[in-house]
Amino acid sequence: MSSVTVIAEIDEQGTIRKNALEAISASQAISPSCTVVVCGNNPTSAAEDVAKVSGVERVIAIQGPAFSSYDSATWAQAIDAATPEGSFIAASTPLSVDLCARLALRRDLPVVQDATAIVGGPSLTISRPLLAGKVIETSEASIPCVVSIRSNIWSAADGGGSAEVSVISHDVQASVVVQEAIDRATARLDVTEADVVISGGRGMGSPENFSHLERLADLMGAAVGASRAAVDTWDPIPHSMQVGQTGKTVNPSLYIAVGISGAIQHLAGMRSSKYIVAINKDADAPIFKIADYGIVGSWEDVLPVFEAQIGHILG
Ligand code: FAD
Repeated sequence: MSSVTVIAEIDEQGTIRKNALEAISASQAISPSCTVVVCGNNPTSAAEDVAKVSGVERVIAIQGPAFSSYDSATWAQAIDAATPEGSFIAASTPLSVDLCARLALRRDLPVVQDATAIVGGPSLTISRPLLAGKVIETSEASIPCVVSIRSNIWSAADGGGSAEVSVISHDVQASVVVQEAIDRATARLDVTEADVVISGGRGMGSPENFSHLERLADLMGAAVGASRAAVDTWDPIPHSMQVGQTGKTVNPSLYIAVGISGAIQHLAGMRSSKYIVAINKDADAPIFKIADYGIVGSWEDVLPVFEAQIGHILG
């Protein structure tokens, strides 16, 4: 049985990200049990948490000041040195996609990024969307290999494990050090991790009007996203919220597009959402072609009714 290591990312609070638990589920296409590697300035508590996840047989925590921010060369070298031979699986975040490519190069392994389905066997049959989701590519990768997976496809692995945790202190100097992080992103849930995403476009009229989306998002436990027109036009709407071809790819159970026309580049980032609801005052807006439910009307009229109904349903 080939061994597999899951690369787990932690958030700013030092907690294991949900997409790491999804990667643990995905790793079962290769082996029923996996090693998890987690890097950080002080990743011990995250490592202890992930050790309680079922299917995890070993956790390697790599700690040191060099891991307080992402430096691709240092991280790839440290993970390569600390983990067993075999495959890697990670979430297809910008950080892990970069790491996957570097680890594949270091170990001379095939790499497939942004997988949406993996079928195990002597080799892996891996599917992923290409060309803005218009086609699905299916490829065969020999094992061992390196795979990153799209968020919200696999269910998160549950608790029930009791893996051993080894902590490796790494005193290396990072080759690239982040001197200052100018954090413009909100403290809100990231669009790639949310099960419900409410996005606003240029049709919102002003950045202040995004507060209507935020209120609804708070009610529903949703993340707030935006079209590129919105983030390009309004400085207070950060690029971290952008959904689409040159933004983030989301795959929530519910995607609500408000004042978004549905340009092909926007659809590229959200068309695989399970249910799509569009609110737009133009009945001919292209977003309605892919929406499961469409409401023709201005958001000023529709959102208050929507919010009241959701409030009523959620009690
Ligand atoms: P618009 O197209 O201007 O649409 C606004 C919509 O709001 C209209 O449909 C209008 O009817 C509606 N509206 C107006 N007022 C109201 C109201 N009061 N109530 C309800 N509806 C209202 N775009 C992305 O989103 N993500 C990307 O990653 C991305 N990458 C790109 C990459 C490239 C290389 C290029 C060339 C473009 C990219 N774009 C991307 C831009 C994309 O082509 C569109 O320009 C953009 O998505 C349009 O954003 P929008 O729908 O908010 O604005």
